[in-house]
Amino acid sequence: MEGQGLSAKIIDGKQVSSEVRERVAGEVAEFIAGGGHRPVLATVLVGDDPASHVYVANKHKACDAAGIGSVHHELPSETSETDLITLVRAIGDDDGIDGILVQLPPPDHIDADRVIAAIDPTKDVDGLTATNAGLLAGGRPGLVPCTPAGVIELLDHSGTGIEGAEAVIVGRSNLVGRPLISLLLGRNATVTAAHSRTRDLAGVCRRADILVAAVGVPGLLGAEHVKQGATVIDVGINRTDDGLRGDINFDSAIEVAGAITPVPGGVGPMTIAMLMANTLAAAKARAAVPN
Ligand code: NAD
Repeated sequence: MEGQGLSAKIIDGKQVSSEVRERVAGEVAEFIAGGGHRPVLATVLVGDDPASHVYVANKHKACDAAGIGSVHHELPSETSETDLITLVRAIGDDDGIDGILVQLPPPDHIDADRVIAAIDPTKDVDGLTATNAGLLAGGRPGLVPCTPAGVIELLDHSGTGIEGAEAVIVGRSNLVGRPLISLLLGRNATVTAAHSRTRDLAGVCRRADILVAAVGVPGLLGAEHVKQGATVIDVGINRTDDGLRGDINFDSAIEVAGAITPVPGGVGPMTIAMLMANTLAAAKARAAVPN
């Protein structure tokens, strides 16, 4: 088949993201029509990183489109860790807020882990607190990190069967790789977590019916890592001199894969869609448990 352009199906993350966002908008309207309150997301941004400002602005736009309210706290880069934690706790205590998103990374003098620990787990729409990580690892309901939740949504949308499949995840970060292990296990995949110390990475990856790359090394994986017909999901977003690149060498992998996500336009747009879904889920869960 070599050289015959046996090309994979391209999984359109923009399309799936807009479908999820429309679905959430409908559910928000239904929740309010049924007597629920309007969900509200609070974002917190420390410092003046231009990319972070764009990300936060996009999150507010997505809230507007979904009928979700949003408030924004912008703090100067010299803000102390204590002041930030005080604000995060105050938002946690504010009954009018359903979701808290602290835009990461914070400036160097602030320990992100200590800030995350101050987030009320019921409002932790990024799914980063130890409580939500523990619930996910234990296979119990909680708020799931947005990017790995988006990966599952893409797999489902592409028609990839998860149950019983061999899934290999390259990367074991708390943000992506680790939660994805639990999500795929929860869907009855056979899951392998590969990482920087994995021996024979290509051999391990070639076992995968579902191959997910969440590494942060542009073009690390190519055709030699992909089993014929596998679904390949590229979480990597790497800024290079040639623009944004994923962890997968797309042009090479597409010749072998059955379905593959592009970068940009694959996993990237899903994160914001799942944030909307999580904010609604947090609002519903809070409404169901009176203070
Ligand atoms: P991270 O740096 O926290 O983790 C990287 C992981 O890759 C580590 O577990 C490490 O063991 C593994 N690794 C590093 N080098 C390796 C190698 N040579 N071979 C095999 N494994 C190796 O990264 P992260 O936060 O999980 O992010 C990974 C990528 O995903 C980045 O490009 C990031 O920008 C992107 N990302 C995208 C989204 C999104 O789409 N919205 C969200 C989060 C992260």
